[in-house]
Formats: sequence, structure tokens, C-alpha cells
Amino acid sequence: MSEKPEKLIDKKGLRLDGRKPDELRPIKIEVGVLSNADGSAYIEHGKNKILAAAFGPREMHPKHLTLPDRMVLRCRYHMAPFSVQERKSPAPSRREIELSKVIREALEPAVFVEYYPRTGVDIFIEVLQADGGTRCASITAAALALADAGIPMRDLVAACAAGKVGDTVVLDLMDTEDKVGSADVPVAIMPNLNAVTLLQMDGILTFEEFERAVDLAIEGCKKIYAVQKEALKARYMAVKQEEEVEE
Ligand code: ADP
Repeated sequence: MSEKPEKLIDKKGLRLDGRKPDELRPIKIEVGVLSNADGSAYIEHGKNKILAAAFGPREMHPKHLTLPDRMVLRCRYHMAPFSVQERKSPAPSRREIELSKVIREALEPAVFVEYYPRTGVDIFIEVLQADGGTRCASITAAALALADAGIPMRDLVAACAAGKVGDTVVLDLMDTEDKVGSADVPVAIMPNLNAVTLLQMDGILTFEEFERAVDLAIEGCKKIYAVQKEALKARYMAVKQEEEVEE
């Protein structure tokens, strides 16, 4: 574990990694990275490195979980044993089970589940390196894996957290800020539908601080959405080029 820093915000108002309060960490996304998945995406969000793979729509196993009128969306969030400084047990922890549910619920409103009755879609998320905000980065990547799998969606889902460190409301907390800071507010949105699909709060904020954090997180989500769109476009340009070469 890293030692507790004295100050999370310096005299110039900059954070431990030199960011301004309303600045995102650098984000890189690649879509279609796994050839054995129906859809996939890889995200680097600051030091977080996360892979998401989507499979389906396909027959459900076990079959008794099948629903007659809609597709069942399942999600497994998993942290690799080497993803944090101290080895993490590969067995699913309570936290991973909770995050799997939270991530599924953030994605589900975007999927036309009624189009594919009696089928299932599985999303597997592997956190290869964690540095705070993995649930949000996982949602961002998983939404792209679903789109890459060709699953009809109302919108993409982009996610980002805001929170409070010292006396300042800041965007996109990294691990130390998350642990030492006083509050964390993860948010996911469907940017075109202008709808929130995830809103959590860990810590204590005044009502004004909460409003500021949510506004900041939504602005962050919109910036992440622009990166998502570019990554999807790049994927389809690559597919188009491959097809042209084959013809
Ligand atoms: P999120 O990753 O969505 O912010 P949490 O707030 O639960 O979710 O976790 C914050 C951070 O704590 C994670 O991103 C990760 O860097 C770190 N963390 C989570 N689980 C462990 C663990 N078992 N060991 C060490 N660090 C962990």
C-alpha cells in the first residue's frame, strides 16, 4: 500500500499527479481486441488496464434461467491476482460480486433486451491493473464490447467518478485519492438519451458538493463518450479496410 500523502491538493490547486480538479486521466480505448469473443474492448484509464469481452445473444446455460420475453444480461467483473499491489485472491470477493451487479445494472437500460427472448448475453470484465475507478472504466469498456458484438443498443454508456479530496470536489479519482479522499461519486450516463444509469456515493458530501460532483462526473462522461465513439469508428474503419483487401 502506498503511504498516506500529506496533501492531496498542492498550493497551486493541483493534485498528486499534477491534474487540475476538473481534469480526467489520460484515456485510451481499443475495440475488437479479442478474436474469440463476439465483441471486446480494452481500456487504459489512467493506470487502470481493463479488458471486456461480450458473448451472445446465445442459448442460456443453465437453461432454467432463460426468460420467455427477453434476453438475460449477465456480467462478471473480476480483478486479476496481479492487478493490485498485494496479491488478490482469484476467488470472487464480495466486492467483485457487488460490482458485477452494479455494472450490469448500468448497462442494461441501453440494451434492447426485448429483441432476443430466450437468449443470454455474457460480459466478462478482467481488471489487469487497478488504480481507482475500475467500475466506471469497466462500464465504459463493456458498453463498447456489447456494441462490437452487434447487440442492438439505445445508446452507449460512458462512466466516470467525481469526489472530494481535501476541501475540493475533483473529477476522476485515482486510487490514493479514492482511499484518502473523503467521498467518491461514480456516475454512468447514456449521453444521447441524457439519462443516468449509475449513481453511487461513498463518503459524505454537502448537498452543494454532491451537485457539483454529479455535474463534474457528467461532464467527464461526455468527454469519455467522445473517446468511445472514436474507438468504435476506428474499429469499423479497420473492418472495412480488411474487407476491401479481401475483395
Ligand atoms: P472502483 O475501482 O470502482 O473505484 P472501489 O472504490 O471499491 O472501486 O476500489 C477502489 C480501488 O481500490 C480500486 O480501483 C483498486 O485500485 C483498489 N482495490 C480494490 N480492491 C483491492 C484489493 N483487494 N487490494 C488492493 N487494492 C484494491
